[in-house]
Amino acid sequence: MIFKTTYNDNNYPIILKQNALTDIKHYLKENEQNIVLIDQDVYRFHKEYLKEQLEDDDIKFLTIMSGEVCKQMSYFESISEKLLSMNITRQSQLIAIGGGATGDFVGFLAATLLRGIDFIQVPTTLLAHDSAIGGKVGINASVGKNLIGAFHRPRAVIYDTKFLETLPHTEIRSGYGEIYKHAILNSEADTTRLMEVYPSIKELSQLENIETFLKMGIETKLKIVIEDEFEGGVRKHLNLGHTFGHGIEYLTKIAHGEAVMIGILFQKVINKNRNLYDTLDTIDALINYLKELGYPLNILNDADIELIFEYMKKDKKNIGQSIQMVLQKGEASFTIESVSKDEVLDAFNELKALIN
Ligand code: NAD
Ligand code: ZN
Repeated sequence: MIFKTTYNDNNYPIILKQNALTDIKHYLKENEQNIVLIDQDVYRFHKEYLKEQLEDDDIKFLTIMSGEVCKQMSYFESISEKLLSMNITRQSQLIAIGGGATGDFVGFLAATLLRGIDFIQVPTTLLAHDSAIGGKVGINASVGKNLIGAFHRPRAVIYDTKFLETLPHTEIRSGYGEIYKHAILNSEADTTRLMEVYPSIKELSQLENIETFLKMGIETKLKIVIEDEFEGGVRKHLNLGHTFGHGIEYLTKIAHGEAVMIGILFQKVINKNRNLYDTLDTIDALINYLKELGYPLNILNDADIELIFEYMKKDKKNIGQSIQMVLQKGEASFTIESVSKDEVLDAFNELKALIN
């Protein structure tokens, strides 16, 4: 399946299928350097497959630190120096193979080296159906995530679902958090369908039919980022679940999308308390569902809400001193509102009581 973005210019294809990597040859640059930067664990898991798909081509391979730790300034510096010592030019091209962290990191290298070179995204996690689309790239600062970054569109996204076969349960749940978010943004019907197809971790871990839902997620994200590339308006809705989610992720180091899912649940409690979209019944239903899927809800028991709140205050989308949260006011209808500390504390205590 191939989608194409519909910007006014610089559009890119998104190829989503089993063995999509075979198509990468159409996007390699002749007589130029094509350098793969690959998560070292992904390389270890898929070495044979990668050799099969890429060995005839004149591609250089650099393995990089796996996961979030690659997104640090010191590592950015060392890999930048390494690439420059390989005499890359403005026509060289980077190929990111890995999850969202790899894509964000390599994308940021591509955005900044020589004032911008091309890059291709080869996402290998469920979550990266989200991060590989939309052109946001970046690394972390010691005070928070993704605070150093750029907008830089990839030249192509090659999403080979074969990679997903080696994902552990935690990473499946993490990616599913963003799929679920996209379903909520889209419609009630999509959310219900998703919950019917994956009623428990057993069905979810088999990833049957996952292409259908990755397609739904990608289409939802594309629609939003094409309308609002630089996040002046509707793109902010993609932060659903992220304000509280980032706080809990930072504090407990659980996987990004697992934290986002808990953030979506938290947002529902605020919705209920403001007489917006949710009720105790919809909150209970989601709690039971998340327990079936094995989301680590019990981390809320020991989490320090004062620390979470301090982190929420640092969110780069806040205005002045107030916290801005995406709230749901109807089916596929969202609003961004200031939320007070008291509301956050009340919702947190209520949620803690509900999960136990
Ligand atoms: P990740 O790259 O950290 O991958 C998660 C873990 O899965 C890592 O340990 C990795 O080694 C492992 N892994 C990757 N592919 C695998 C495979 N096929 N089999 C087995 N293990 C595999 O991150 P992620 O969860 O994919 O994405 C999270 C990151 O994405 C965060 O840094 C987040 O900030 C970023 N993000 C960016 C955007 C954006 O728009 N740029 C959007 C959402 C998230
Ligand atoms: Zn996210």
